[in-house]
Amino acid sequence: MILNSYSLLMPAQIVFGWGRRTELPALAKSLGQRVFLLSGSQTLVRQGVIAELVTGLQQAGLTVITANAPNHEPEVCDVDRLTRDWSAHKIQPGDCVIAIGGGSTIDLAKAVAALLTNPHGESVQDFLEGVGKGLTLQHDPLPMIAVPTTAGTGSEATKNAVISSYDPPFKKSLRSDRMIPRIVLLDPELTVTVPATTTAYTGMDAITQLMESYISRKAAPIPQALCLQGLQQAWPAIAKAVKNGRDRCAREAMSHAALLSGIALANSGLGMAHGVAAALGVHAKVPHGLACAVMLPPTLRYNLPVKEQELAELGRVCLTDLRGSDAEIARRFIDAVAQLCLAVGIPTRLRDIGVPREQIAALVPASQGNSLSANPRDLTPYDLQHLLESLW
Ligand code: NAD
Repeated sequence: MILNSYSLLMPAQIVFGWGRRTELPALAKSLGQRVFLLSGSQTLVRQGVIAELVTGLQQAGLTVITANAPNHEPEVCDVDRLTRDWSAHKIQPGDCVIAIGGGSTIDLAKAVAALLTNPHGESVQDFLEGVGKGLTLQHDPLPMIAVPTTAGTGSEATKNAVISSYDPPFKKSLRSDRMIPRIVLLDPELTVTVPATTTAYTGMDAITQLMESYISRKAAPIPQALCLQGLQQAWPAIAKAVKNGRDRCAREAMSHAALLSGIALANSGLGMAHGVAAALGVHAKVPHGLACAVMLPPTLRYNLPVKEQELAELGRVCLTDLRGSDAEIARRFIDAVAQLCLAVGIPTRLRDIGVPREQIAALVPASQGNSLSANPRDLTPYDLQHLLESLW
């Protein structure tokens, strides 16, 4: 293996374990005295979990300002509104942000934490890749604790927040090395209430991230090692977590794998599945994890000619039958990925996830961006159009 030079970014502190959400007050006190807390799951609100955490923070002497995230993937207007609301409290030293929710909530909180200390734009849109005014963060965001309740996007460990707009349509990132949450508090018990379908979608997002990072153009040695461990955990666990949400081992495995997928993608980038998923999200409102999962087998098949060895390496982690050459194992692995998608209820065709055929022309330009540029095999807009037509 040739070792090129590399850098690695990840959260400064990771606290992982069943039930460890009780440590939130102590962790928050290590960051400041006043907390802006964003929660995302109505289920966790209804069950009193969020109220319990807020009470714990208050009993520890912290001032807590709370908000609920909307029940959709974050949009420009959501970020701008929450930034306005929270900046009315006059940001001061000792302030910090806590996000308790899925990727949507964590991304919304990451974007707001960044804008509160970088008020030199009119809207988050000014900072977004590809569509903004090219503004960059000049100051560190408010320090943040990410408490993921899905497993997942890995957003708790990444340096971007994905923000959508429907008019004009785009799904783009606010990205900066400064944006990696300072602390990740990962309590897999918080994910037991995630419904089966969302468990399948979010889990397939993590699995897609582990595979795309591993074969990415920007793949690097430490993230690749994490991808192998993450996949070893997630491969047997996802169907179990979908079947029985209370399966502790499966939930722990999926939460850990999602975290590793976040560290991997933050340092290695992704590929075609994520590029197209952004377009499917904004044009057809396909949930992010479902979009990734539908695109995963065709993405691996497309990349096979240039990544046979790496796909065989992934296959050796997941398959039981390891006979044959790299080419044979890589092919068997891709077939097994397609089977796994079927087993957790992922459709195979774009028309089955609500994409009208005439939308394909719009999906092609909307797929271009950071993720697609890391896809290991070159892909012209014509190639992509052809591939999407064949998937319809
Ligand atoms: P989500 O956050 O949108 O949550 C999906 C649904 O699950 C929501 O209805 C939510 O309320 C519910 N939910 C969350 N936790 C729950 C719980 N414990 N119990 C019951 N219900 C619960 O979904 P997601 O897949 O986690 O996040 C998707 C977003 O993350 C997309 O916008 C995607 O683009 C983004 N993303 C960001 C990154 C990044 O690096 N920043 C990486 C991948 C994806």
